[in-house]
Amino acid sequence: MTDEKVARPRRWRHRAFALALAGALHGCTQEAPADKEQAISQEDRAYGAEQHRQLLAELGGAYEGGQGAYLRAVGERIASGAGLGEQCTFTLVNSDVVNAFAVPGCFIYVTRGLLAVVGNEAELASVLGHEVGHIAARHAQRQERGSLWRTLGVIAVSLTGSERLTEFAGRAAQYFGLRYSRTQEYEADDLAVAYLRKAGYDLYAAAEMLEALHRQEAFMNATRNQDAARSLPEWTSSHPLTQKRIARAHDKARASGLKDDALPEKAEAYLEQVDGLLFGDDPQQGFVLGRRFAHPAMRISFEAPTGFSLANSPQAVRLIGPEGVSGEFGGGRLPSGGLRNYAQAVADAVMGDAPAVVRKETTTQINGMPALVLEMAVRVQDGTLPLLIAAYDGGGGEAYHFIMMSPPSNPQAAALEALIKSFRRLSPAQAAALRPRYLQTLVARREDTLDDFVRRTADPSPRALFVLLNPDYEGGAPKSGDRVKIVTYHPKSLVRERGASSHSASF
Ligand SMILES: [Zn+2]
Repeated sequence: MTDEKVARPRRWRHRAFALALAGALHGCTQEAPADKEQAISQEDRAYGAEQHRQLLAELGGAYEGGQGAYLRAVGERIASGAGLGEQCTFTLVNSDVVNAFAVPGCFIYVTRGLLAVVGNEAELASVLGHEVGHIAARHAQRQERGSLWRTLGVIAVSLTGSERLTEFAGRAAQYFGLRYSRTQEYEADDLAVAYLRKAGYDLYAAAEMLEALHRQEAFMNATRNQDAARSLPEWTSSHPLTQKRIARAHDKARASGLKDDALPEKAEAYLEQVDGLLFGDDPQQGFVLGRRFAHPAMRISFEAPTGFSLANSPQAVRLIGPEGVSGEFGGGRLPSGGLRNYAQAVADAVMGDAPAVVRKETTTQINGMPALVLEMAVRVQDGTLPLLIAAYDGGGGEAYHFIMMSPPSNPQAAALEALIKSFRRLSPAQAAALRPRYLQTLVARREDTLDDFVRRTADPSPRALFVLLNPDYEGGAPKSGDRVKIVTYHPKSLVRERGASSHSASF
């Protein structure tokens, strides 16, 4: 199961989600970028470096291998164009969510999910240019602390008095809570076009990339299961995307006097690089299938009740339910004291010093596993909040748990009971059926039809996905010699010898 290119995520462990908010709390207003050589301040650099490790762990870790080095190389060309040569850190994140973001100190993150949507090196450079633009223009620092906290909903510090508990309840999926203004987006788009020119890339790639992200948003809306809300927001939620932005980026390129493709797009080089990139869920982190979570390496699964959404990270699976219910699923070693000690450690890690009492303790068997269910009450200023912990002895010294917090009325008590009862072990055959998918690039032959490529695209919506990955072929088949992207179950190059066998994808 281990793909050597994938950095193995750290073992799940309990911890409070002391998350960085991408510099949003790092307040200081500075002037707009000058055209001269810029410098990242020591203070910003130290701030970004401090967030880096924790951020990466939260988001899925770094995706190692050729694509990470390629991203850094393209990023460095852009950073140089921005007057920030050797001052930025570019990281490829092992997540299938389509996103890119910037943290003060010029730490730039791009997900492998975004790489799948990108069509050529110039488009990738434009995304990096946009993010570097937010840094150069110091947009994150201009976000107001107050407005950010307001987006953090859920159970507020004022209610619980415990900052750690609040983080646990609410910050998780709010990670990209930083939302840029329209003016800031325009400014970053304009800077991206300027950096493309300095780095020698086709200027029209900026508008084309925005179009690709727009198509990706439409694809997600058309194909996603209503219940399967995505873990983390996509790029378009932190960088509001409008038709006007696309038109502006195009006008900006035209205003340069250069024609489309006057500078190189580098499509060939790009498609070479992304051949073999992991696509979709990473088996080392588990698969989110609608409301179901399954981990083939650990051979476990559970199903969240209707209305809940799942957010997978290497440390834990976060569950966000209706009516303010939230919590997480995780695992660890079973201590010598057994499930009671394990459950206590889970509670301590999340609550810290917040006062809590056990109201009911039930020792039981769930789907053949010894389990302990603790119904607790956490004291807050105006009363108590229900906290539910279920711990399972998974055998072989492994333990798993849910920890779920609810508002005082405990509106989802029945749903939480169903959740706890849904946890089970997978058979070896069930685990083996959960396979990773890969991006693969193919060279079209004269006889290939669009349907041939669609048939080979492993996805519940193969045609929509193929067209998303290869927008040039919405209307017809690729020409002989064109390179296209498909998604397969086969790691790199198995299908190179095309025609030798048919790898029609069944999903
Ligand atoms: Zn932006």
